[in-house]
Amino acid sequence: MNQMIPPTPRKFRLGMLCTIGLAAIAAGALLGFAADEPAKPAATPTEARQWHVHDRERPQPPVVTPGTFSTQEQPGTPPSDAVVLFDGKDLSKWVDKTGNGEAKWKVENGYFEVLKGSGQISTKDSFGDCQLHAEWQAPNPPVGKDQDRGNSGIFLMSRYELQVLDNYQAETYADGMAGSIYGQYPPQVNATRPPGEWQVYDVVFHAPRFNEDGSVAQPARETVFLNGLLVQDDVSLKGATAHMTLSKYTKHADKMPITLQDHGHPVRYRNFWIRPIASEHPVAPELPGIKH
Ligand code: MG
Repeated sequence: MNQMIPPTPRKFRLGMLCTIGLAAIAAGALLGFAADEPAKPAATPTEARQWHVHDRERPQPPVVTPGTFSTQEQPGTPPSDAVVLFDGKDLSKWVDKTGNGEAKWKVENGYFEVLKGSGQISTKDSFGDCQLHAEWQAPNPPVGKDQDRGNSGIFLMSRYELQVLDNYQAETYADGMAGSIYGQYPPQVNATRPPGEWQVYDVVFHAPRFNEDGSVAQPARETVFLNGLLVQDDVSLKGATAHMTLSKYTKHADKMPITLQDHGHPVRYRNFWIRPIASEHPVAPELPGIKH
């Protein structure tokens, strides 16, 4: 049964509107007062992480001249702040893995190539957190199958392998494909190009942190693009690369050389450079804006 609700008297409605309006004005005034409160004092140098929104005293990022992109025919150029590990001419930045001699891999036509049986090579310098750019090319025509086909690898810190492999229309296990963190994470997609074409890796790597007792404080993290496609998205590494067994960490230095794998296949590399990066994440402003 419907009950009739008597209409609200006009006077009462007007009164309600006035009350709401006054309350809104009062709230606005309070908010305005809050916004006009004097800003907190600017951060001192020892409080370097405390910044105002749009703070003009916040340090400017360094100016870097970007490099150029590669084509299949021509390698690009590194950005101006990169540590160039191969300039197309020689392997002066590399040594035998043992560190006892010159890197023996072949250099020609602006690239260097794995010299079968000569062993792995490592950078003379050591690196920790970094951005890495490297281009590689699997032999054409392809030879072999599965893991015995255009296999090499980029070992960050000489122990965490980003796989290099010719798995273009060629079968292998997922966590051993190009773009995989070998034995741990398959690439999100198979973005490989045919053998004989240049392939591009862009990597962001954060080294692991260890406690005094050797336990892991923070695992290594890695993001990888293969030919411009995201294949590893900030994955946490389980430990040093291992074959047929689970990876585990062993405490090591903050910076270590990069090592390239001689898997017996004449894989080529070019345009190989690295940029050490800050280990700490930037922090967003914690103080309100100030008028300029
Ligand atoms: Mg490999």
